Amino acid sequence: MIRKFISKLLRRGAPTAPRARLDRAASGPVVVGHAEHRIEPRLVSSNAVRVTRTLQEAGFLAFIVGGAVRDLLLNVKPKDFDVATNATPEQVQHLFRRARIIGRRFRLVHVMFGSDTIEVSTFRANQVENAETDVHGRVVRDNVFGSQEDDAARRDFTINALYYDPATQNVIDYHRGVADLRARLIRMIGAPERRYREDPVRMLRAVRFAAKLGFEIEAQSRAPIAKMADLIANVPAARLFDEMLKLLLSGHALVSLERLRAEGLHHGLLPLLDVVLEQPMGERFITLALKSTDERVRRGKATSPSFLFACLLWHEVLKHWEEIKGRGELSMPALSLAMDRVLDAQTEALAIQRRFAADMREIWGLQPRLERRVGRAPYRLLEHLRFRAGYDFLLLRCEAGECDAALGQWWTRFIEADANARLQLQTELQSTSTGSSANPKRRRRRKRRAEGAPAAPTEQGEDSSEDR
Ligand code: ATP
Ligand code: MG
Repeated sequence: MIRKFISKLLRRGAPTAPRARLDRAASGPVVVGHAEHRIEPRLVSSNAVRVTRTLQEAGFLAFIVGGAVRDLLLNVKPKDFDVATNATPEQVQHLFRRARIIGRRFRLVHVMFGSDTIEVSTFRANQVENAETDVHGRVVRDNVFGSQEDDAARRDFTINALYYDPATQNVIDYHRGVADLRARLIRMIGAPERRYREDPVRMLRAVRFAAKLGFEIEAQSRAPIAKMADLIANVPAARLFDEMLKLLLSGHALVSLERLRAEGLHHGLLPLLDVVLEQPMGERFITLALKSTDERVRRGKATSPSFLFACLLWHEVLKHWEEIKGRGELSMPALSLAMDRVLDAQTEALAIQRRFAADMREIWGLQPRLERRVGRAPYRLLEHLRFRAGYDFLLLRCEAGECDAALGQWWTRFIEADANARLQLQTELQSTSTGSSANPKRRRRRKRRAEGAPAAPTEQGEDSSEDR
């Protein structure tokens, strides 16, 4: 009874007045009812509904917001749910048993239900006039609370500024986002140039959403991107890294990178992308790596950022490895130096975290070791913590024609075989191979590189790689 009364009150407080028309009324937002949007209730997270209901029962406004509403309207199951409310972070925290306030620049509340987390943010104002900015106009602090309308205006694209109230099943639309969703357009809210200046990451986001949803970037939102691309350089590395990770693990990485190139966003943007997109040598390998990551994401399989970054930078490592060996360095120490160089150049700008960098080194370091298949070496590799990643990486290299397919096939059989069959595989190898290294046939470029390496696997080689 009380609940009904309160939600009635709330509905009165919230901008309702259902209107079927999608054009924006001068006086307020458009409210799109269920008959029109037909959001599937089974796609809506029950935890998100619990959060909005609890907040509403306590007298606050609360809506599901952002990407989740966009995806629901497209009849796609959202990967996560965000809630926006007029309650302050402290008020939100008090209402839930397992909730904690996070973030400094933007204070948010994480409400936890088992392994599921609902992110709750307080309506924020887009106080650009008074906000603290850097010398390029990038907003560095904007933690001022505001009204729901303010909150809608500070969001990036019209399709990301929709509010869904599970209680009334209304979608509240301040910027004609529903119309843009239907027209399949990514449209910046407000003056695009100003919004990109406030936060240059929005350029990357425009491309990411266009690629992910198969939408076009609306002409005026698109026009300034090419000339403003350089502003990305002022964005803190950790933030860029997060955004790039979202892009690369979106399930649409290949298309996203193609679009970045088409928008002129790849040049002088991130060292990683410069390397990746301007290096024809590794193109086939990288394309395959991105395709396989996209497929994994779409099938809901786990994906590892380290593996992906190891793929993206592999040809850069090869280039340096070759060069260092050319100066007379032994193969394995040369590889280690090449990895240092590549990671040093990247970590500063992309903030590849230490954890990822360590894994990447392991994956790369395993590549020459996977060529050694006699004696104890392959058994030791099977026990290596990153063996699986190294082997998957090898398969990609084989698929890209960078090493003999027989090498990958041999490992596939070796992994599956029992003890006797393993011995048999090693014996076969020695009888079919001229040298004990059983090195596969290589392309000319790799052959030259291999000359610096010992012909047969040596303990020294193995040790030096394990020392890393
Ligand atoms: P995804 O499905 O990829 O998570 P999303 O739209 O939910 O997409 P998030 O990065 O999770 O994207 O951000 C949540 C919401 O916060 C966005 O929908 C948008 O309204 C707002 N937002 C995020 N980043 C920005 C930004 N840089 N500028 C303005 N608004 C932003
Ligand atoms: Mg999201």
